[in-house]
Amino acid sequence: MAQRDLLNLIGGAFQPPSSGEWVDNVEPATGRVYSRIPRSGAADVQAAVQAASAAFDEWRAWEPADRRAAMMRVADLIEANAATLAEAEARDNGKPVALASAVDIPRAEQNMRFYASACEHFSSSSHAMGDGTVHYTLRKPLGVVGCISPWNLPLYLLTWKIAPALAAGNCVVAKPSEVTPMTAYLFSKYFRQAGVPDGVFNVVHGLGPEAGEALVDHPDVKAISFTGGTATGARIAARAGATFKKTSLELGGKNATVIFGDADLDAAVSGAARAAFANQGQICLCGSRILVAEEVYDAFKERLVAKVEAMKIGDPLESGTRMGAVVSEGHRDKILAAIEMARQEGGRVLCGGQAHVPTEDRIAGGFFVQPTLIEGLGPGCRTNQEEIFGPVATLQPFRAEADAIALANDGQYGLAASVWTADLKRAHRVAAALDTGMVWLNCWLVRDLRTPFGGTRSSGVGREGGFESMRFFTEQQNICIGL
Ligand code: NAD
Repeated sequence: MAQRDLLNLIGGAFQPPSSGEWVDNVEPATGRVYSRIPRSGAADVQAAVQAASAAFDEWRAWEPADRRAAMMRVADLIEANAATLAEAEARDNGKPVALASAVDIPRAEQNMRFYASACEHFSSSSHAMGDGTVHYTLRKPLGVVGCISPWNLPLYLLTWKIAPALAAGNCVVAKPSEVTPMTAYLFSKYFRQAGVPDGVFNVVHGLGPEAGEALVDHPDVKAISFTGGTATGARIAARAGATFKKTSLELGGKNATVIFGDADLDAAVSGAARAAFANQGQICLCGSRILVAEEVYDAFKERLVAKVEAMKIGDPLESGTRMGAVVSEGHRDKILAAIEMARQEGGRVLCGGQAHVPTEDRIAGGFFVQPTLIEGLGPGCRTNQEEIFGPVATLQPFRAEADAIALANDGQYGLAASVWTADLKRAHRVAAALDTGMVWLNCWLVRDLRTPFGGTRSSGVGREGGFESMRFFTEQQNICIGL
């Protein structure tokens, strides 16, 4: 693909950055620059917020059925362009095209369809008092909202935010990750084609501390829905507080996969491997701490190591590849530094442990890390406390159920966990004792879009999913009818 410049979508028009400056976009599997994105700043954000404000009265007045139809047409365009989008996602992110085709793009389409129909099902409440007085509660769109998304599931997480925002009648300014801007750009072309009024959906590309922060600071932006790292989330929460914005924060994780001695070992090994290494370990829900009952520790370890050693890294654009590149050179180096730190902390590397050097010409300059398992580290060490967000997982044995729970809850994060056991009572008991927003029992990453999604402690504030997102993107107004 020839080098190309991506553009902002502001008020229905594709525009270069007002600064005239651009940021290189690198293909992680090759290490080469293949496009550029606008280095947008406060002036571009101002123009986008203005366009969104101007479109708000029209969009909010649309009947839910009309909003639904327009959003369904956007979903139809995702479906019609699925192969192009999947290839673009694989090239931009380094993830296998098979994964983008099976998960990222279908899920983006599903997000649009799910929330398109949600706007026809969303309702508000009324309360009748004993004396006949009635209260009814309106749920009004907020106005202009900002949606800031990360690089690991680019179109999937962008649509997860903008779909409920639009369905609830808001106008959106989106700031996709500068590391993976391509599918947001392609997607932004569908809105006019789908008959969505200009200005309802705007995209401003650029760097977090510049375009992102300008969006967070803008006084006319009523809410920020953010998914990304915990440190960024803390900064955004503090700044958004200054202008009393609503915030939804989906942040980092250091999730436990808990294997009890009575678990179906084959299923647990497959589940733990998938949970640790899907998308090269770059999913906030990945199980990077594998806790194993000591009576099955050796047997589990042997099978898991064999499975992980069999994982082949390849060109993300080859349909047979199941393990691709990590997202950037900087991120690869951060992952390798974390593995080195694990060694220094006394960890034993069971497999992997270094960069993968491809033999294929096209990807010779790419950023690859071998899937890595490490044992011999206690819960308090940095390797078991800090999010690595790459293909690296640790193994820790435990003796009793209470030890497993204590280990799983150790640390600042509380996003998700998976528990593997044949004992139904124990499964529910342990799940309830885990301080996480989500628990999977004998499965991992099974998603139903109606369920609350989010974490506790440093993993975030608030829940997305189902009507939770519709509630976030609306303001309640209670009206009381006297007798
Ligand atoms: P990041 O925090 O670096 O960036 C996320 C987004 O925020 C990007 O669009 C970035 O440009 C923007 N940004 C950065 N600094 C900003 C600032 N000061 N003001 C406004 N915007 C700013 O995160 P990342 O590296 O892109 O993504 C990886 C992280 O995301 C991991 O920690 C992962 O766990 C987390 N994540 C969480 C979830 C979840 O649902 N909880 C899902 C996916 C990823």
